Amino acid sequence: MNPIFSAIVFTTVWATTQTEILMVSPLAKIRAMNSHSATGTEATTDTTEAETDRALGDRLVKGKLPNELLFVPDFDFSEQSFQKFVQKYLGKVPLQKTLKQPHDFLKLLGAVIEQEDREPYLSLLVDKTHSLPQNYAPKDLVPLKNYPMLKLAGKELQLRAPVIPDLLKMNEAAKADGVSLSLGSAYRSFSYQFDVFRHYVGREGLHAANRYSAKPGKSQHQLGLALDFFPISQAFAGTAAGNWLLANALQYGFSLSYPEGREATTGYIYEPWHYRYVGPLIAKLIALYFQGSQQEFFSFWNQAAAELKQHYIPESKRS
Ligand SMILES: [Zn+2]
Repeated sequence: MNPIFSAIVFTTVWATTQTEILMVSPLAKIRAMNSHSATGTEATTDTTEAETDRALGDRLVKGKLPNELLFVPDFDFSEQSFQKFVQKYLGKVPLQKTLKQPHDFLKLLGAVIEQEDREPYLSLLVDKTHSLPQNYAPKDLVPLKNYPMLKLAGKELQLRAPVIPDLLKMNEAAKADGVSLSLGSAYRSFSYQFDVFRHYVGREGLHAANRYSAKPGKSQHQLGLALDFFPISQAFAGTAAGNWLLANALQYGFSLSYPEGREATTGYIYEPWHYRYVGPLIAKLIALYFQGSQQEFFSFWNQAAAELKQHYIPESKRS
């Protein structure tokens, strides 16, 4: 067993919050009872305590681990099964971080599971090998021209309603820093993307087009969550807006989809202008555990979510 791992888990993690201290208490009670019988002292007839112990015994008989032996309250992982799980799904760097902060990592993942019930599209992977159906079109698209404070460089731009509040906040924050954000492209339907891709193929050929433009069904723009800032060109990287977004967008739930030097992972050349809204929760996971790589988070989630959900204990079922 990794010594750092066990030290962190059994000292820092368990002992730092009130909830966790409370969760350790049944074990302390058992120890106390054992020491009573060893010294011949009468155990108290506290009914609450007796009930707790009976319940604990029942759970042990059924083969389910009692809470104090669980790794975190929100999942039924043991230290060992958690280690196995992350080793199966994570690359080396995120693996080390999650083993150092297993509790924080799992807390965020538990929140993404809850979020997925309400807003499944936020954690939906769309890339070169994961497509949306031709008829996928969000029902809550909002025209950006409804918001006069936004600077629009494209026609008839629309995004999903849940993106708007954070987009407005980000726009305000940029303005306060003296930076003007201009929006060039937002939601694109399957058929619109078909035309876009065909246009690029006609101009530069399939191979070149495929490095910077998505085939229809494989575009994040079809989700209604992706935004291209203006100008849509490599030159955007050197602009005040490009730099400001690199440093700040994640705080507002927007993640750079195709970072520099990651073509082997993402399938696309550096697109300094293209951001996907992932929401604050996933943005935090990307920043803390996935080295800022949206693709790595989504690939992980896409592969691991089903198994993770089998280990998840919803709040209502936690004892
Ligand atoms: Zn784009």
